Amino acid sequence: MKKSKKSIIKLEPSVKEHIWGGTKLKEKYDKKSNNKIISETWELSAHKDGPSIIASGKYKGVKFNEYISIMGHEILGSKSERYTDLPILIKFIDTADDLSVQVHPDDEYALKYEKDYGKNEIWYVVDCESDSYLYCGFSKDISKDEIRQRISDGTLLEVLNKVPVFKGQNIFIKTGTVHAIGKGLLICEIQQSSNVTYRLFDYNRIDKNGEKRPLHIDKALDVIDCKKFEIDQINKDEPTTAEKSLDYQKLIECEYFSVERYSIQDHIELYGKKDSFISIVVTEGEGSIYAEGEKLDFKSTDCFLIPAGESKIEIIGKCTFLKVHL
Ligand SMILES: [Zn+2]
Repeated sequence: MKKSKKSIIKLEPSVKEHIWGGTKLKEKYDKKSNNKIISETWELSAHKDGPSIIASGKYKGVKFNEYISIMGHEILGSKSERYTDLPILIKFIDTADDLSVQVHPDDEYALKYEKDYGKNEIWYVVDCESDSYLYCGFSKDISKDEIRQRISDGTLLEVLNKVPVFKGQNIFIKTGTVHAIGKGLLICEIQQSSNVTYRLFDYNRIDKNGEKRPLHIDKALDVIDCKKFEIDQINKDEPTTAEKSLDYQKLIECEYFSVERYSIQDHIELYGKKDSFISIVVTEGEGSIYAEGEKLDFKSTDCFLIPAGESKIEIIGKCTFLKVHL
């Protein structure tokens, strides 16, 4: 296939159906699946366990990892040179039930034992029910023996920080931090491109085949941070009215990814650079995106990729979106 010029592309997600998933992604956001329940949509992914699919232009229908091979790794930008693939993964998560209590390894451990990357992740709460919450880190210093004991007697949640959730909240989960996302949430997660999760506790749930999902307690204890989690470092207070009206907020800038939120009333211009691709993920509203001489319409939860390089990106509409880059 002769490669055509670089252009903005719209992506179609790879869809997942874990037991705790909900119906919002299919019913409210029109994601395609044969199953009513969708737990996750991997919107921007080149991961082997679920690459997203090109949904616009000449390469429509091509898997995103194959698209990178066709177009050349340089579409990801110079900051991606040290990775063989797209280094991040963007997904939506819809929870009708609680997720397992889990932890993710860092790069060193994951590359050694799982042949995958570590998983630092940030959550942006797109929507939630009024009484929803999640768990993040230990509420005290704890020993590995006590963690084991609490897993076996079902009291692990008692030593985790329970955090009330609000729309627009963002929480960075560093590798090694124990966590559990509660039910009633729609989250946009930006993470390293990894599919390594170690489950500590799964509420003794059984799946549709009558089986419990496996736990990975030894590996989890290898990578877990046993220190008290400093809860002040997370964004846990509802924003004031003044903060809510801000049209721009930097959520994170770290060695793995940068995420910024924009809320616009009519239009904005953004500029692409050579060092990184840009992904635009819409979390509310609708409009159109123009870049590289092309125009694509969007609605909430749509996801786009603009290849690395100097470019002007114009977004028109009344919407909130995340701009993700390296
Ligand atoms: Zn996680």
